[in-house]
Amino acid sequence: MCSIRQNLEQVTSQIDSAAQKCGRDASGVQLLAVSKTKPIEAIAEAVAAGQTRFGENYVQEGVEKITHFRAHHPELEWHFIGPIQSNKTRPVAEHFDWVHSVDRSKIAKRLSEQRPDSLPPLQVLIQVNTSGEESKSGTGFDDVKTLAAEIDAMPNLTLRGLMCIPQPEDDHQKQLAAFAPLSALFKEMQATRPAFDTLSMGMSGDMDAAIASGSTMVRIGTAIFGARDYSKRT
Ligand SMILES: *Cc1c(COP(=O)(O)O)cnc(C)c1O
Repeated sequence: MCSIRQNLEQVTSQIDSAAQKCGRDASGVQLLAVSKTKPIEAIAEAVAAGQTRFGENYVQEGVEKITHFRAHHPELEWHFIGPIQSNKTRPVAEHFDWVHSVDRSKIAKRLSEQRPDSLPPLQVLIQVNTSGEESKSGTGFDDVKTLAAEIDAMPNLTLRGLMCIPQPEDDHQKQLAAFAPLSALFKEMQATRPAFDTLSMGMSGDMDAAIASGSTMVRIGTAIFGARDYSKRT
């Protein structure tokens, strides 16, 4: 079995070659290690191998991990990437550095109000529903700019870009087609927004297509930490 360190090296070289293939500089693609359901020890192994950005999907689990690592590893960056319920915004606002899954103004407003003054603004992305009706999370394409303007007016949030989770798809061409519309919208919005620098797209199964489509942050779980066992989640 491969160690987490070896997996990280493997993923990093996959990012390098995917970037090279489409003429991009690999330094423009950040690696978010998605550690949901994985124990503290697995994260510690990734930290020892030099990984600094981690993504979590579940509020309580994420807060426990952040609390564990914060004292000795203040350099780590914690990203909340799961669906957010409005009654769970407070711990997210109080502990995380980034939120990728902002998809409505009510959630954004609560995050801004609940962000402690002692912390820098929460860095947020708007999650866009790129695959239509089937998926529940994410704002529709037509509503992205309105939501962005609302977030602009919220003092404790900084809008950094967009995020999507397309339907799982094995075919590279279909993956490219799924990423294209969000990539186009990102470029368009970037023209008038200096702080817009993050396009969060790509998971273990579609990271090459995401990078070819302009992703600046891939969210990788399985390829780093192995398959997840949800039966142990409490
Ligand atoms: C779980 C998850 C990932 C990681 O998926 P893998 O296929 O394990 O790489 C990425 N993004 C989000 C939003 C997730 O929930």
